[in-house]
Amino acid sequence: MINTMRVNLIISKLIQEFQFKEQNGYLRQGICPDCQKKELFTAIDKPFVLKCGRENKCGAEIIVKEIYPELFHNWSTHYPKTQQAPNAAADAYLQQARGLNIAPLKGLYIESGYHAKGLGSATVKFTLPNGAYWERVIDNPQRFDRKANFFGSYKGYWWSLPQQDLTKATEIWLTEGIFDAISLAQNGLYAVSLMSCHNYPEHALAALKTALGANKKPLLVWALDKGNAGEKAIRKHVARSQQEGWKSCAALPSQFKNEDWNDLHLKGKLERYDLMRYRYYGDLLLTKSATDKAMLIFNYTHRNDFYFQFDSRFYWFKLDIERHLKAVERILDSEKLTKEEATTKALKESGAVNEIANCYPTPLYFQKSEETDESWYYLKLDFPQQRPNVKATFTASQLTSASEFKKRLLHVAKGAVYTGDTHQLDRFCKNELPHIKEVKTQNFIGYS
Ligand SMILES: [Zn+2]
Repeated sequence: MINTMRVNLIISKLIQEFQFKEQNGYLRQGICPDCQKKELFTAIDKPFVLKCGRENKCGAEIIVKEIYPELFHNWSTHYPKTQQAPNAAADAYLQQARGLNIAPLKGLYIESGYHAKGLGSATVKFTLPNGAYWERVIDNPQRFDRKANFFGSYKGYWWSLPQQDLTKATEIWLTEGIFDAISLAQNGLYAVSLMSCHNYPEHALAALKTALGANKKPLLVWALDKGNAGEKAIRKHVARSQQEGWKSCAALPSQFKNEDWNDLHLKGKLERYDLMRYRYYGDLLLTKSATDKAMLIFNYTHRNDFYFQFDSRFYWFKLDIERHLKAVERILDSEKLTKEEATTKALKESGAVNEIANCYPTPLYFQKSEETDESWYYLKLDFPQQRPNVKATFTASQLTSASEFKKRLLHVAKGAVYTGDTHQLDRFCKNELPHIKEVKTQNFIGYS
């Protein structure tokens, strides 16, 4: 049972802020902060995510714990331990902050405590294989230098729900965190947690292989966190597991945003078609050449004109579909290739993939001075071969003509050359610039 006192507090705050109306167990007609229409709604018994009803036109989704962090930080004050409920705060945290069904988790965790600097917090403590433990600090974790603690070694193992029979799985998703694995499992997947992206589960995989005997091995879907460390680890683990005879691929929870599997669970975005998209992001990560990546995007999006990044270089893809289809036909007639192989070959021949800069620009933010009427765009430039990135300002005129952009680029970063045209630059700016943050000049110092 979810404690109603806290939920009532959340409901009254939501009604006040978004002007919701109560209707048959739902809060409806709240004002959407993105589109300003009265379309925001949420369930009264689980008011943890607000959604805009204009799914295609707006699609706003607000995670309530992010707008009222103060209501989601004092679990043991609101849910004190009692003899009848020894895990009261831990239970509430898992249900309300993580949106998890705790019934199937009974006995897998206990509420424990963490103390440092004379301060204390309740924790949710899970038992790991090999006699190890992991605990998550839940009461105002920002007061401490850590959010979680490990005891013992879990190296080479994974954490798995005991009710999952992994020998029955056709695919297993391998995540970093326990909450991520539970989130996927509660959406119908077989999922395990590696605890850390550096932990290759050699012992767990060996045990699974033995248990499977002659039965077909499941596909391993490496679904670690987004970001450099996780993505590097995915590539490494995919390669190693393939060498060891597993079929392996990757999945990422998001292409650009900083979301994890638990966020997606809270937002109800772990449906079948969502999962296909996350697998596509994983496939993009594993591509080995610009042509492979272009083909993947082309096949998935059916667009024949787009830009993309590969190995920190800026590429443009443009395909004359009619000519391409003819080329595929010609290759199929003259060579013994599959349709896929012929398509790849035709794409390579077509010259559809072109490098237009030997670095990749990412707009970070926009800055304007009201007093002087000057403005700048801050761009981050990434380079291949682990060369450190460069951050630099670009004026509007430097972003509106290819020749000005080319000059500025070469000026701010040694050897950075743009060979694209103004139309390509326009397309890039039109797509990327409207989303970036705006910074006022008085904030100039100290922005990070
Ligand atoms: Zn909206």
